[in-house]
Amino acid sequence: MKSSNQQPAASNQQRATSNDRVFIALGSNLGDRAAWLRQAQEKLFGAPTVQLVAASTVYETEPVGKIDQPAFLNQVLEVRTTLAPENLLSRLLQVERELGRARNERWGPRNIDLDLLAFGGCILKTGRLTLPHPELHRRRFVLQPWAEIAPEFIVPGFSATVEGLLKNCGDNNRVQKIERQNYSSENKRCWWYIDPPKE
Ligand code: AMP
Repeated sequence: MKSSNQQPAASNQQRATSNDRVFIALGSNLGDRAAWLRQAQEKLFGAPTVQLVAASTVYETEPVGKIDQPAFLNQVLEVRTTLAPENLLSRLLQVERELGRARNERWGPRNIDLDLLAFGGCILKTGRLTLPHPELHRRRFVLQPWAEIAPEFIVPGFSATVEGLLKNCGDNNRVQKIERQNYSSENKRCWWYIDPPKE
């Protein structure tokens, strides 16, 4: 593993330093999509090992790959964590399981999907974790919300900022901001609402 970013990377075996900037992508396209995103955050931040730093607004996005499925809601969070990268991945998979996520077809519909986008300057490829996330530069539904909260973050291995990757992203699928957010830094929670459809 090497560090190519502003901060030293956490070793996979070590506990992370509080300086690592860590980003998580959330997605849902089944059932009450907004509720799934909210519940995932409640579970994730229910333990002190993962803390919210910033949350993008929520976007409604066209499915990519397998297109005959409902539109997604997507959001990106910046978190601070004491967990090492593999342990944070385990935590994300645990939250998915707790929310009843069944692993069906790869690009198919899912009530909740949690991906680890980047962990400080960490570049890593193990059997179960690739960092940065290998698809992030191809996905407008990731880059657009991410650029909202961390445009200047240099994505390790790409030598480019999130904003730069977004500018060069060839994905032209619809990514539309749909909600207003009220973020309270006091208790590190966020509440948000989906705008009612326009008359
Ligand atoms: P999916 O649910 O289709 O996003 O795939 C999840 C699987 O991808 C998990 O079982 C992980 O082991 C693996 N994986 C590899 N790298 C990552 C990453 N950066 N974030 C989330 N899952 C990852």
